[in-house]
Amino acid sequence: MSTKTIKTEVNQFSRILDTFPEIRYLGDPVLRAKTSEVSLKEGTEIGKKLGDTLINYRKLVGYGRGLAAPQIGLSRSVFVTYVNDEVQTYINPRIIKFSDEKNLYRELCLSCVMMWADVKRYASIVMQWTDSKGQLQEQEATGTLARLWQHEEAHLRGIPNLDRAEPGTMEFALSDPLQEKLRLV
Ligand SMILES: [Zn+2]
Repeated sequence: MSTKTIKTEVNQFSRILDTFPEIRYLGDPVLRAKTSEVSLKEGTEIGKKLGDTLINYRKLVGYGRGLAAPQIGLSRSVFVTYVNDEVQTYINPRIIKFSDEKNLYRELCLSCVMMWADVKRYASIVMQWTDSKGQLQEQEATGTLARLWQHEEAHLRGIPNLDRAEPGTMEFALSDPLQEKLRLV
């Protein structure tokens, strides 16, 4: 591991701090607080804000698949994902089924930026939520989508990924996060 690579990451983090003053980082109490449910109106407004931030973040950094309301300082039950070139808003989500199988993945988070760690999560889940049109949704997710939903939903319960890191796996994130793969446990 070279100090040069770490410095590249530090410089990128510095640009992120300048560009997105609204993003909150580990140590901010809002990230470890349980969020409250929202109305459809408030949920869609927050979803729009989160979606815009995530899209602009991706333009600067080149990755980023999800953002939850506490990460911009709002203790509300809303998150967004960016999958297949589309932003989806999840209002008051609730995971109602969990698979027996779990897997591991080195997770990044916009609220800890430079550090990542293995986190064990369920291989598939079923989640309920209200979408931005006010429709109640219930869907199963597997693979990286199940991973993403669980990471974001945990934010709404005040649990950032590093609080669930497998011991001994926290590291500076110096390789390409887009190359990460799910591993069975
Ligand atoms: Zn996160």
